[in-house]
Amino acid sequence: MTDSTTDHIAANIRSIQDKIAAVQADYPVLPDTPNPQHVTLIAVSKQQPEEKIEAALSAGQRHFGENRLQEAQQRWNNDRRARFPDLCLHLIGALQTNKAREAVALFDVIHSVDREKLARILGQEMAAQNRKLPCFIQVNTGMEDQKSGITPDDLANFLAFCRKECVLDIIGLMCLPPVDEPPALHFAFLRKLAETHGLSQLSMGMSDDYERAVPLGATHIRVGTGVFGARAGYEG
Ligand SMILES: *Cc1c(COP(=O)(O)O)cnc(C)c1O
Repeated sequence: MTDSTTDHIAANIRSIQDKIAAVQADYPVLPDTPNPQHVTLIAVSKQQPEEKIEAALSAGQRHFGENRLQEAQQRWNNDRRARFPDLCLHLIGALQTNKAREAVALFDVIHSVDREKLARILGQEMAAQNRKLPCFIQVNTGMEDQKSGITPDDLANFLAFCRKECVLDIIGLMCLPPVDEPPALHFAFLRKLAETHGLSQLSMGMSDDYERAVPLGATHIRVGTGVFGARAGYEG
């Protein structure tokens, strides 16, 4: 690992933390939100090279986000987990039901509970492995056909299903706003939905829009390129 990579990643993380503090200082406190509310910075490590991962770890970063199980298993292998026992791994992408067992074994938080079949199997796996992971429901706030997630109208039923039938520990809501719309509208809407349903955690905001998400109540921001720089290879 080169010193410059280490310094660079550490500076990126510091700068994001500073921006979070700055927007919290600039915006009026929303009702029912502690000031400042705690914001967890999840460093999205998908498709990033080893030396950058090590640099983030050296800088003290412990929350990481991944969207593909196999890639995450390689990156966050037992050796690495043993070196950093306080790591917290967040699954932020779509999950196939046949991979639920391995996902429950690897991850610590699931942000993408997006359908009944998945919720049911996650509940079964968590019971079998005695690992009750905090979960977010992914909401398709833009009602986009190509995007997964629960529609706002179905949220009440789905939440009840997750809790009663699947015994999932649902702590909040997650969204990915449509690329061609102002993200703040979706963040505000997600917050409203969370309030309506008595949920306190909001996973919203990425590299380009976390500064909008924080004043609207984000508790978890998922930042990839802002921490590590551009990803190699395909988007996912
Ligand atoms: C890749 C990804 C991110 C991070 O995106 P950046 O623009 O690199 O910050 C956040 N959330 C999800 C669900 C992702 O797949």
